[in-house]
Amino acid sequence: MDNESVTINFRRAEQYKLLTIQSGYVWDDDADLPLHRVVAEDSLGHAIDAGMNVHHIDHNKKNNTPKNLIVVSEWVHMLLHAAYHYGFFYGPGSLLVDPVVLVTRLRAEGIPFEWCGEDNANS
Ligand SMILES: [Zn+2]
Repeated sequence: MDNESVTINFRRAEQYKLLTIQSGYVWDDDADLPLHRVVAEDSLGHAIDAGMNVHHIDHNKKNNTPKNLIVVSEWVHMLLHAAYHYGFFYGPGSLLVDPVVLVTRLRAEGIPFEWCGEDNANS
């Protein structure tokens, strides 16, 4: 197992954490949770409901910046991966790896989501 010291840009505080890589995911040993869940909850300012998934928009499990993370239902999450792998909606590779394109599309479809890159501080 690799140990990596990674700087994460949290919304509410700059923090340094010792992180490990487990099954390709960055793991927050302090929280004992995958880092993307910790960053998502920190960015949104609330816990993520059970049954909701945190998706890496660009499909890079190591890119845990808030703007790369979106909370969707397990069903929508599965569709996003199908879109990425089989080219539904936007062709192979999919423009849905662009956060603005994805958020615009989900909004247009009326699909519930919470984008961690949204500025929630003033809403
Ligand atoms: Zn995903």
